[in-house]
Amino acid sequence: MNLKPTPEERSFREEFRKWLQANIPAPWTGNASNEEDNKEYLNYLSAWQRKVYEGGWAGISWPKEYGGRGASVNEQAIFNEEMALANAPPLINHIGLAMAGPTIISVGTEEQKKRYLTPLLSGEEIWCQGFSEPNSGSDVASLSTKAVRDGDHFVINGQKIWTSYAHYSSMCLLLVRTDASGPKHKGITCLLLDMKSPGVTVRPLKQMTGESGFNELFFDNVRVPVSQVLGAIDHGWKVAITILMNERANSGTGMYVTYKRIFDELIERSRVTAAAGRKAGSDPVMRQKLAQSYIDLEIFRLNATRALTKVSKDGVPGPEGSILKLGYSETYQRLMQTAMEALGPHAQINDFDGGQFSHNADAFSISSSLAPAPCCRDQ
Ligand SMILES: Cc1cc2nc3c(=O)[nH]c(=O)nc-3n(C[C@H](O)[C@H](O)[C@H](O)COP(=O)(O)OP(=O)(O)OC[C@H]3O[C@@H](n4cnc5c(N)ncnc54)[C@H](O)[C@@H]3O)c2cc1C
Repeated sequence: MNLKPTPEERSFREEFRKWLQANIPAPWTGNASNEEDNKEYLNYLSAWQRKVYEGGWAGISWPKEYGGRGASVNEQAIFNEEMALANAPPLINHIGLAMAGPTIISVGTEEQKKRYLTPLLSGEEIWCQGFSEPNSGSDVASLSTKAVRDGDHFVINGQKIWTSYAHYSSMCLLLVRTDASGPKHKGITCLLLDMKSPGVTVRPLKQMTGESGFNELFFDNVRVPVSQVLGAIDHGWKVAITILMNERANSGTGMYVTYKRIFDELIERSRVTAAAGRKAGSDPVMRQKLAQSYIDLEIFRLNATRALTKVSKDGVPGPEGSILKLGYSETYQRLMQTAMEALGPHAQINDFDGGQFSHNADAFSISSSLAPAPCCRDQ
């Protein structure tokens, strides 16, 4: 792809940057692991997403008739970069925006597009993803939550686990077994489930941090209209792959900016903070590790560009997104490990920048300047 921005892309970036400067909310200062505070934090994030939507900045590359901006995927990437550069709070409806929305646009019926896309963009309806089960994790095609046809409904029984955000979601992208007679990848169907349907129980899983980001979902004779099937009955595996490809392809550009800012701050701190009596920046072994993090980040940046190129060429995310997702998990883990070693006991101090920590899950504050990072294309 041509990495030089077009005049339209330049003015898009400038316009959005100005809008962000005028509209970004004050950083969240509460403790998101405390339950009461957590509710307030969710309200804070919901209000932010509504503001972004009302400003005309939600669903950058989505069709205008469903509430999107009708712009290009490059402009969507610029949006992600600018959000990360400004250390803006995340949009609360992550699964809706990155997974449910793009998949409904690709394979949904006209009725589904009209019904679901706009409330998803405004954050009025939050989505979760019901794929994993206690006995179907990596091998999700082995799932056994059963949906049996009863007239114009499916009746669902079974259990899901690790369902992020289910405790405050109104909708769920749910994979169910509709035919168990053939190979496991066949006979799966994807349903758009209303979380308020009778028979749905959400049980939060408490983590050691005190937070409950994940949930178990139980289905007891839950009735879902056949009109809620996304894609074709028994062909949900193809839909699931589209959902996951969208998730992977969407994440690179903004994340690179965030990680690069963390890295730059780590370099600054390594020059002044002594771990084990020695500044990390003067230690030859630590210097090697910092250099390795820089190399990891460059590879991540190039892979993000590669994934974006694929989507901008034919509108469909490709396997590059899988490399990207695996790559960024490992890059981030290694970067944080290096940060802990470089900062020594200082790494245990929560000198967060007014709650900005919770926006990006950084291990330390990111208070440094927001100078544009050299990202996937020329700024
Ligand atoms: C932050 C986070 C958010 C998540 N949110 C959601 C969500 O919203 N919705 C949802 O449905 N799920 C969600 N998940 C669940 C996630 O998708 C599962 O963790 C994943 O499917 C793995 O399943 P598992 O934990 O049962 O591990 P397993 O599948 O049991 O794997 C355990 C280990 O065995 C390895 N392994 C598995 N199979 C093989 C094999 N054949 N050969 C060699 N090694 C193997 C794996 O690599 C892993 O190291 C989330 C997970 C995380 C970490």
